[in-house]
Amino acid sequence: MNSPNSAENVTICSAKGCRADAVWVLAWNNPKLHTPDRRKTWLACEEHREHLSQFLGVRGFLKDVVALEEWEASAGGR
Ligand SMILES: [Zn+2]
Repeated sequence: MNSPNSAENVTICSAKGCRADAVWVLAWNNPKLHTPDRRKTWLACEEHREHLSQFLGVRGFLKDVVALEEWEASAGGR
């Protein structure tokens, strides 16, 4: 199906070119752009979790790596 990007529950890995289902949420923050309590999130599949967290980690942006299930339970449960 050719659906527009209106779906809010897209859980595809954020790695370039990867279409795998994400299983991890990487919470990060760029102190130059964001206030300290702000969290940007990237989604990662099993394969790209390390690659993406390393990318953020070397820049000092990475705050947290949480399983997607847990993330949704804490964020969506309100
Ligand atoms: Zn991936």
